[in-house]
Amino acid sequence: MNNMEKYAEFGIIASDPRFLKDDKNNDFLSKYDNGLLTIDNWKLFTDTIKTIYDEVKINNEGNVASYIPQLANVDPELFGICVVSVDGQVFRIGDFDPSFCIQSCSKPITYGLALKEHSENIVHNFVGMEPSGRNFNELCLNEDNLPHNPLINSGAIMTTSLIQSNKEQSNRFQYIYNFWNECVANTFLSFDNSVYLSEKDTADRNKCLGFMMQEKKAFKKGKSKKISKKINRKWNNDDLQKTLELYFQNCSIKTDLLGMGLLSAMLANGGVHPWTNKALFSYKDVKKILSIMLSCGMYDYSGEWCYKIGIPAKSGVSGLIYGVIPGVCGIAVYSPKLDKLGNSFRGIEFFKKFVKKINSHIFENRLNNYKLTIEHSLKMNDKINGYLLLDAAFNNDCDTVRNLLAKGINVNYQDYDKRSALHIASNENNKEAVELLIENGANINLLDRWNNVAHKIE
Ligand code: GLU
Repeated sequence: MNNMEKYAEFGIIASDPRFLKDDKNNDFLSKYDNGLLTIDNWKLFTDTIKTIYDEVKINNEGNVASYIPQLANVDPELFGICVVSVDGQVFRIGDFDPSFCIQSCSKPITYGLALKEHSENIVHNFVGMEPSGRNFNELCLNEDNLPHNPLINSGAIMTTSLIQSNKEQSNRFQYIYNFWNECVANTFLSFDNSVYLSEKDTADRNKCLGFMMQEKKAFKKGKSKKISKKINRKWNNDDLQKTLELYFQNCSIKTDLLGMGLLSAMLANGGVHPWTNKALFSYKDVKKILSIMLSCGMYDYSGEWCYKIGIPAKSGVSGLIYGVIPGVCGIAVYSPKLDKLGNSFRGIEFFKKFVKKINSHIFENRLNNYKLTIEHSLKMNDKINGYLLLDAAFNNDCDTVRNLLAKGINVNYQDYDKRSALHIASNENNKEAVELLIENGANINLLDRWNNVAHKIE
């Protein structure tokens, strides 16, 4: 297969900066050639997504958000999906061209930028890390008089206030926008001024949240005066207006499904962008961002989402949901009609079916943490688990051998020299392991590369 054929078959698209790079400088090609792609059965994977897409498309319940008037001006029938693997492979289906404003999907990034600039200790002096159990814009604070978490409105207004706070407004927005550009690898990014104005003009609730926090000194002091002093936190009452504007501007950033897929894949890849290899967030900050997304990312559906779907995700009222499967891929789904809790109706349906067909709940029982098993595929990670078995046979480690066999690993797995666990255990005179392997169906007639069967031990 030549490089172009490999790209076409494995989802590398022309806007990927690695597209025309030669083999030596192209990490995709070297992973491909060495069998190291995370989702190596790309066709089966993408066919599965296509099947789910077709099933979900038929159903389009719910209503488009209208409390921000401009949000109601979208085509309610749109439905598209973009999946980007940690190796930068892209699969898109449906209406993946239209752009949309990101709304609350900006919040994990705003939180990440606050963490990048300040320590965890400082950021969480001003915002909690608990699900609120309430609506995303409900007028409530936690017992420290702080927002419950960074992914509801009050929390995101707070994290916005922490970003580049001693700079000019224009520079603050530019800083955030530039970072988004890195997240989408300079693909489509824009700003929806009509949404911004519409949101600003109808912002009674967000203003109210801001005033509540201001009244409780949440911006100025947070939980502890000592900590707020560390960053020399100043807060004048007119800072609230500026903070709210910047928050509305964040929500009005516009991108498309490719952009959101890339951003999600960057989070799935520990903060390193799969196309550009740039570390946009440290893996430590990604861990924090994803933890909050898992517990608080899906409005008042977060608990059930965590239970049933179990992947860190964030939803926004424009109809976008993005999910992050750590070490595997990012998935962005766009369909503007929302359910009662404010989540994209089709988005939720898609993810429900996705985790049933592709075991991606983060607590799924997997031997090798986050590799995917695709329904109908043979066994996941046959190779790695096979090697674990050989290693256990070499060490006469019968507990591990038993464990692996109980989990369905092929007892007759052979390595590149066609050596099986039985060949290795008998070569090492590991009597217990040999007996255990034979009891479990090891084939004593298997030939290795030199045409030898496992030798008998007395
Ligand atoms: N800009 C919206 C608001 O503040 C964000 C809502 C959302 O997407 O959850 O109301």
